[in-house]
Amino acid sequence: MNFFEYRDGEMHVENIKVSMIADKVGTPFYLYSSASLEYQYNQFKDAFGDLDLLICYAVKANTNQAVIKTLGSLGAGADVVSEGEMRRAIKAGISPQKIVYSGVAKTVAEMTYALKKGIFQFNVESEPELYQLSEVATALGKVADITFRVNPDVDAKTHAKISTGKSENKFGIPWKNIHQICAKAAKLSGIKLVGLDLHIGSQITDLAPFEEAFTRVGNLVETLREEGHDITRLDLGGGIGISYDGENDNPILSHDYAKMVKRVVGHLQCQIIIEPGRFLVGNAGILVSKVVYVKEGAERSFLIIDAAMNDLIRPSMYDAYHAIDPVIENKDAKVAYDIVGPVCETGDTFAKGRIINPLKKDQLIVIRSVGAYGAVMASTYNTRRLIPEVLVKTNEFAVVRPRPSYEDIIGLDQLPSWLSE
Ligand SMILES: *Cc1c(COP(=O)(O)O)cnc(C)c1O
Repeated sequence: MNFFEYRDGEMHVENIKVSMIADKVGTPFYLYSSASLEYQYNQFKDAFGDLDLLICYAVKANTNQAVIKTLGSLGAGADVVSEGEMRRAIKAGISPQKIVYSGVAKTVAEMTYALKKGIFQFNVESEPELYQLSEVATALGKVADITFRVNPDVDAKTHAKISTGKSENKFGIPWKNIHQICAKAAKLSGIKLVGLDLHIGSQITDLAPFEEAFTRVGNLVETLREEGHDITRLDLGGGIGISYDGENDNPILSHDYAKMVKRVVGHLQCQIIIEPGRFLVGNAGILVSKVVYVKEGAERSFLIIDAAMNDLIRPSMYDAYHAIDPVIENKDAKVAYDIVGPVCETGDTFAKGRIINPLKKDQLIVIRSVGAYGAVMASTYNTRRLIPEVLVKTNEFAVVRPRPSYEDIIGLDQLPSWLSE
């Protein structure tokens, strides 16, 4: 389902014209659709029927309170990777009893915070972390429910920077060490081993690597039970890919994913936890920008827009493709542009040789599928202000993160005594 559609040649989000919001908010800005978030969450959840399932939205994909709250109110828990994310999730109304804590470098301070809040589960990634957590929990008079993140050594066949389930990656506990570490965990006073978890990578567009990994981990659950461990939870991670071509013909359908999960691990009678991030929010957001100049270079035409790599790093960091469309369609023959931002780096390029409607100075343009890993990865590089985030609900919109003032960002610097005279 696409919630950013043309009506009479003009792009709308739900029932509102994108151009109307641009007039009020100013460009560039992120624009999210509540209906898209709700649709994506509900059809994913419904696909699992009555399976004992907790969907923990991986909030790192989009940590705006309004986005977390929209999903939380539908029943989602949260997967967090830092104390900051856990604070955001709680503030957005998610119960700590629905929060799982992932990440390779949880600190004592983070463990303490999470335990005091009564977190549902830690996904432990190493032996030193296990001992540290047991120590912290024991000192607080608590017992931490944990799963071990296993590294199933499967190739997720995605971009190298977001592949996490190969034995060469820093994530998870090596397959051969699992039995040993589970035996060690069973002896620790601050730890209760309740399950296993895995997360093999992001933007995975084929079911096969998931099935391979889930099968391996499912077998491991059975072996560990034979060894006397009471395994009651299985956390399958996130990583489900989306389409970036503007058509929303998602490469993996909820229905097929759910069917596979039930077939491969359904018989284990575990509570299943899934941590989708991108899948829930990726196509719920667009980036609205404006043409600053159309520049005819020696060899190519450049569309220079007011959004830049600091607002959306995915094209330069992951060579990511994003569909790019004008807000108002025109009937002129399409032309090829390199679509670039104002930042002083050649990497500040959203697309090369992209064929779209010809555009003029001051016309609006949108980059699609930016709801995940867009605003959260933004920076103020080139002393550009973070751009607003706007959420639409049917006929209404609200700015859910305003554009800071220049004073807000420049004023953060402090001069040392020897320079302030
Ligand atoms: C990043 C991450 C996710 C979410 O990944 P998506 O590809 O956005 O679904 C889930 N679990 C863990 C442990 C992660 O690191």
